[in-house]
Amino acid sequence: MSDCIFCKIIRGEIPSEKVFENENVLAFKDIQPQAPVHILVIPKKHVESLAALSEEDMPLAVELLGVVNALAKEFHLTNGYRVVTNIGDDARQSVHHLHFHLLGGESLTDKMC
Ligand code: AMP
Repeated sequence: MSDCIFCKIIRGEIPSEKVFENENVLAFKDIQPQAPVHILVIPKKHVESLAALSEEDMPLAVELLGVVNALAKEFHLTNGYRVVTNIGDDARQSVHHLHFHLLGGESLTDKMC
């Protein structure tokens, strides 16, 4: 069984503040929010990063972005928002399970996530 912290969240072994869940996707609040709205949208399938997505994962990628889009509406980010995904060491990816940061709720600073 995977030691990945996000896999543990998916399995319910680590608590999280869930905002969306279906059979493929989970979204929860970031534990160290960098904006009033800071949500992580992740696949339930363990994929290391965007770079590790295969051709057969493309429907999942589309579904993840659909959830990001829906959550931006649900959280009323009508004045704009930022979507970030870090890939690898140069981007300082700290959790090696694909995740999209959804940030908004205020005028965002240049460097975030
Ligand atoms: P990254 O640096 O892009 O890999 O982002 C990882 C994010 O996961 C950071 O913003 C962390 O604050 C967040 N994070 C780490 N552990 C947890 C957790 N247990 N619950 C919620 N968010 C977490």
